[in-house]
Amino acid sequence: MSKIAVFPGSFDPVTIGHLEIILRAVPLFDKLILAIGHNSSKKALFSLNKRQEWLEQLFSNNPNVEVQHYKGLTMDFCKLQGAGYIVRGLRTAADFSYERTIAQLNREMDEGLDTIFLTSSPQYAHISSTVVREILLNNGDASKFLPESIAADVAKSL
Ligand code: ADP
Repeated sequence: MSKIAVFPGSFDPVTIGHLEIILRAVPLFDKLILAIGHNSSKKALFSLNKRQEWLEQLFSNNPNVEVQHYKGLTMDFCKLQGAGYIVRGLRTAADFSYERTIAQLNREMDEGLDTIFLTSSPQYAHISSTVVREILLNNGDASKFLPESIAADVAKSL
């Protein structure tokens, strides 16, 4: 049976922090689905199209990576995709206590669904999409925190 994992997130926008976790997760699974969650209650800065385009561009050479988007519960999306694993990145203890609760809930509702945590390397632990958005909205240069190939387009797409 092939091992399928979902890496869910807002990717608003995708950062080098996400990139690190994704690149480390790829070899662990037969297929990794980068899943952009877009629930209407959470208003994104960048359009779904752009967020999807950036992820597709970054992983176009990797046949084991797929980009999709979904609404609703992550666990329902996983079931639909036949995925047995959710991948999440951990930066801080605060990330851990939040993520642990979600992981436990997911597993209680679906025993076949395990969450795999990857801890970020120290040099990426302070990077978040929230910080990148804040810099961009204040006309700062966030290119250090963005994958090089998409940085210019992200700044232009505000
Ligand atoms: P969400 O809104 O679901 O938290 P994000 O796009 O912010 O979506 O994050 C998706 C995943 O990527 C989460 O597991 C988050 O912890 C992880 N992540 C984001 N930035 C980093 C980083 N710098 N290092 C490690 N993991 C990260």
